[in-house]
Amino acid sequence: MGFDTSGLLPLSDALQGMLDQLACCCDTEQVPLPHALGRVLAADIASPLSVPPFDNAAMDGYAVRLADLATGTPLIMAGKAFAGQPYQGEWPAGHCVRIMTGAPVPEGTDAVVMQEETRADGDKIAFLVPPIPGQNIRRRGEDIREGASVLSSGTRLTPRELPLLASLGIATMPVHRPLRVAIFSTGDELKPVGTPLAHGDIYDSNRYGVKAMLARLGCECLDLGIIPDDPAQLRAAFQQADREADALITTGGVSVGEADFTKQLLEELGEIGFWKLAIKPGKPFAFGRLPNAWFFGLPGNPVSAMVTFDQLVQPALAKLAGQQFERPLQLQAIASEPLKKAPGRLDFQRGILRMGPDGLEVRSTGSQDSAVFSSLSRANCYIILERERGRVAAGETVTVEPFGGLLL
Ligand code: AMP
Ligand code: MG
Repeated sequence: MGFDTSGLLPLSDALQGMLDQLACCCDTEQVPLPHALGRVLAADIASPLSVPPFDNAAMDGYAVRLADLATGTPLIMAGKAFAGQPYQGEWPAGHCVRIMTGAPVPEGTDAVVMQEETRADGDKIAFLVPPIPGQNIRRRGEDIREGASVLSSGTRLTPRELPLLASLGIATMPVHRPLRVAIFSTGDELKPVGTPLAHGDIYDSNRYGVKAMLARLGCECLDLGIIPDDPAQLRAAFQQADREADALITTGGVSVGEADFTKQLLEELGEIGFWKLAIKPGKPFAFGRLPNAWFFGLPGNPVSAMVTFDQLVQPALAKLAGQQFERPLQLQAIASEPLKKAPGRLDFQRGILRMGPDGLEVRSTGSQDSAVFSSLSRANCYIILERERGRVAAGETVTVEPFGGLLL
């Protein structure tokens, strides 16, 4: 409002600028399937077998040959096929085979007739509905053909992939080792939870947010605690992080009043850019390289720290970890109340999205000040308002991004 925002860096440029410099830095190791949840595949996976591995019954019923049904007389049951216990006997003309779901269909089967379409009289089975050739048979390879590519390198393994890998009999797989990320909070005013506050102190909350998000991303976290605004202690912390981690994430100390301080130190140790991003919250942000580790400097305000981590650091860490990053789903919703907004920055307002009588509707969580953490804790989505947009009237359409796995 009234500020000149023309020199601010668009979010997309900042993100692209970072991604262009980053590459996967995590070697490969083998893990057994039961330990693969959350790990990132380090190779493409092709199917070593067909799924299903044999033609099998999709229903409980009878396996028939169409020629045997031509006369319309009931068929004699020759035997039974169960899942895991194929029918291995003779199959003379005029006979059918009782079959259960998942059992291999006997050689020569044209169709499986569901039980409900038959009438049994002892071992004589009458077929009430003429079967369609191939009905109720799941064909070998119908789901996945042997040799087909099933998962690509960079896939983060979730509960959706593990059963798939198991169905292919894959017991171990190559994954990237977890990314090691050092974190610390900066600020003389910060105290850890569990200690009393003196006047002027506040509890360090950012570190718990950053740590929780790193856990969600499957990163190993090296927590260096709270570092006071003291050059010697900061230098030591930067150096330790650089020795022991692939990346360092700090919060605080990148805004105008403090930038000079950390700037001087970081310029001495590596190459760091201090950016003013055209987003709200989260204007100040630092990114660069220490001798061995990448550096991400998040703003101190708690909402800004979380939002910049989610929007900028998350895709960057994914790339370092070898993971293909998928942009979260964005939807359109109707603003059910007016939204305050000044042109000049891309807003990530925190909102509550719900299904209304006329479709998706969203409202703000209240004060959008970047120090008001309840604006985030009560929200279930971002309301993303374009950079040049001004205030939004009730009833206007806005873009929303439901919180993804990082924040849930
Ligand atoms: P800074 O970016 O260091 O100027 O901090 C901006 C604001 O965020 C100040 O009000 C700080 O007290 C607050 N802040 C900085 N770091 C943290 C933290 N780790 N937890 C909670 N608040 C913080
Ligand atoms: Mg500070």
